[in-house]
Amino acid sequence: MVTAMSDSQKVATEYIDTVYNNLKEKHGHEPEFLQAVKEILYSLTPVFAQRPEYMEASLLERIVEPERVVKFRVSWEDDHGKIQVNRGYRVQYSSAIGPYKGGLRFHPSVNESIIKFLGFEQIFKNSLTGQPIGGAKGGSDFDPKGKSDAEIMRFCQAFMTELHKYIGPDVDVPAGDIGVGAREIGFLFGQYNRIRGAYEPGVITGKLPRFGGSLARKEATGYGCVYFVQEMLKEINLSFAGATVVVSGSGNVSTYAIEKAQQLGAKVVACSDSNGYIYDPNGIDLDTVKEIKEVQHGRIKEYVETHSNATYTEGCQGIWTIPCDIALPCATQNEINEEAAKTLVKNGVKAVGEGANMPSTLQAIDVYFANDVLFAPAKAANAGGVAVSALEMAQNSMRLFWTFEEVDQKLHVIMTSIYNNCVKAAKEFGHEGNLLIGANIAGFLKVADAMIAQGVI
Ligand code: NDP
Repeated sequence: MVTAMSDSQKVATEYIDTVYNNLKEKHGHEPEFLQAVKEILYSLTPVFAQRPEYMEASLLERIVEPERVVKFRVSWEDDHGKIQVNRGYRVQYSSAIGPYKGGLRFHPSVNESIIKFLGFEQIFKNSLTGQPIGGAKGGSDFDPKGKSDAEIMRFCQAFMTELHKYIGPDVDVPAGDIGVGAREIGFLFGQYNRIRGAYEPGVITGKLPRFGGSLARKEATGYGCVYFVQEMLKEINLSFAGATVVVSGSGNVSTYAIEKAQQLGAKVVACSDSNGYIYDPNGIDLDTVKEIKEVQHGRIKEYVETHSNATYTEGCQGIWTIPCDIALPCATQNEINEEAAKTLVKNGVKAVGEGANMPSTLQAIDVYFANDVLFAPAKAANAGGVAVSALEMAQNSMRLFWTFEEVDQKLHVIMTSIYNNCVKAAKEFGHEGNLLIGANIAGFLKVADAMIAQGVI
């Protein structure tokens, strides 16, 4: 006999199939975007089964469509006087709960599919923080690697010369992401002010504290990820103390995930960059990593020059063959595939916490669940960065400046609350313990209700 509940679930699944298949037909050439949409849409099945009014309001058809996609040419002059041309993007996905908010990525792999996947995820992540911020993302296929400071500045100025038309403290507030750190944010902010003829610190976040940035913003994503995983580990009476941890990447998120994990007593034995990874059985010396990556803008392989116990291996995938209790992928999308996930499981991993956006493929996530590995999904676990960006906006508009400890404490409270909300939503909709479903549902409900309350938007 078919129960009433399975009938409504069937209707919800058919509805989601229709929306997803239509999207697939139109965007078959955008695999990252489809991957992100698929992961979120199907986890919302229990919501649509319980709340058919969302289907009647065509909520999914609306939410998968960005409010605006801006694509522009960025022409700039290199140090040899040659004109270079790159492509810039800003995807303003949803303003249902606040001004658009999301980072800028400068990396040669950037294209519309990647910016859309990141922008779509950002809607739910920003909602989860509990702060009034909508979802957006932007960037360029510009490669900052090997460029001089003067070239980076000219590129940032050219990029902002176009982008400034679409942003503002109450409209759209960009921030950093891969390839966009404090140096780039400074150049972008300077050009915005120059064009506007006004000082508007609330237009961009991730600024240095000396001109309107928030203390603890630099640390926020990495620290926040560890705070989230710390809560999750309590479920199995584990903690970072004494745990062996592998962290991929050696950029902003990785560096501060390593720092917090070490402060909590973990031994972090490996990290990487896009060329390869280092393994230090004695535990990574973070001061050396910071000197190489933050100060010298060098390569992670230089680490072994001063640490004879450590080894360097060319290529990124091998990092997941190192046995660990906790894996924190903090580099980029799809860095853990099914095979890497199986290797992690074979080596006894107990928890995976995503610092990067979408670092696990859908198949890798299936492997975690099939093997009872605790899984902290990106949109919840790495929401600390945008949460502190929103705190930076609050400080800018109040013309106040909080101490490091004040911001860090607020971050800790926010991450704990995100964790609790994910647990609660998962339980309420029949998927107890599944933080992926919990995060998607908790993030979605707030935006969905705001859209319904605001009429046809
Ligand atoms: P950074 O540019 O500071 O660091 C990225 C790190 O990942 C670098 O070590 C880089 O190596 C490595 N990397 C980049 N591409 C690849 C690749 N294809 N394969 C292997 N390694 C790679 O970026 P962030 O730390 O800011 O961002 C990392 C991730 O976290 C991204 O997914 C980003 O979207 C996400 N994120 C960032 C937030 C933030 O506040 N910064 C907030 C929320 C999410 P190399 O030096 O060789 O390029």
